[in-house]
Amino acid sequence: MGDYTSPDNVKANLDQKERTLRRLTASRTVKKAETIRAYRMVPRELFLPNHLVRDAYIDTPLPIGEGQTISAIHMCLIYLELLDLKEGLKVLEIGGGSGYHAALVAEVVSPTEHPPSGHVFTVERKPSLVEFAKENLEKAGYSDRVTVIEADGTLGLPSEAPFDRIMVAAAAPHIPQPLIDQLKPGGKLLIPVGKQQFWQELTLVSKTEKEKIKTRREMSVAFVPLIGKEGW
Ligand code: SAH
Repeated sequence: MGDYTSPDNVKANLDQKERTLRRLTASRTVKKAETIRAYRMVPRELFLPNHLVRDAYIDTPLPIGEGQTISAIHMCLIYLELLDLKEGLKVLEIGGGSGYHAALVAEVVSPTEHPPSGHVFTVERKPSLVEFAKENLEKAGYSDRVTVIEADGTLGLPSEAPFDRIMVAAAAPHIPQPLIDQLKPGGKLLIPVGKQQFWQELTLVSKTEKEKIKTRREMSVAFVPLIGKEGW
């Protein structure tokens, strides 16, 4: 009990991990080989408080402290698919939380077997979660490909801009202009937008090569609020 390294618990978790994956591929929620590979590679159990480790592969959001949650597995994987990630891309995440979602993205843009190519910068405003994410990423072997920064992510990360992809893991009242400005031509931004607290529209923003902005509503979602200068 509680020791996720015991053989029984490791096996139970891995069985559950594959069951969750089968359900997500059977429903066509997850289609891409890179997404499946990243999900298999990244140990979600290393991104949770100890008492939740045995629920690591239940497809639900789980509390990570500070009133925040690690997103459900399907939501993380939907982000990976919609963002059209490729090896070598430079990605910005707003709302690092546990670091799990950033590790999944890192596994696609800079796969473990190859020399580091792409990179993920993740911005988190709560100092205790910055520390939590850093520790988790270190344990899981992603600290070379993911940089965690404490800041108000509604302003983006000007020192590292521009980015090929930006993903926002908290819900905004509107699309923050700094994020649009920090997107490369040909880049994509994925963000939950909505005035209501527990309902938003997951919105995909694309910047064309000629810097025209296109937005598309993908699906209804429920995220914790994005707090900050360009947020709530
Ligand atoms: N992606 C995370 C879960 C995100 S939960 C994971 O994989 O675990 C949303 C996170 O956004 C919370 O940790 C919250 O503190 C953070 N957040 C909210 N507003 C923010 C802001 N303006 N800048 C940076 N982080 C913010």
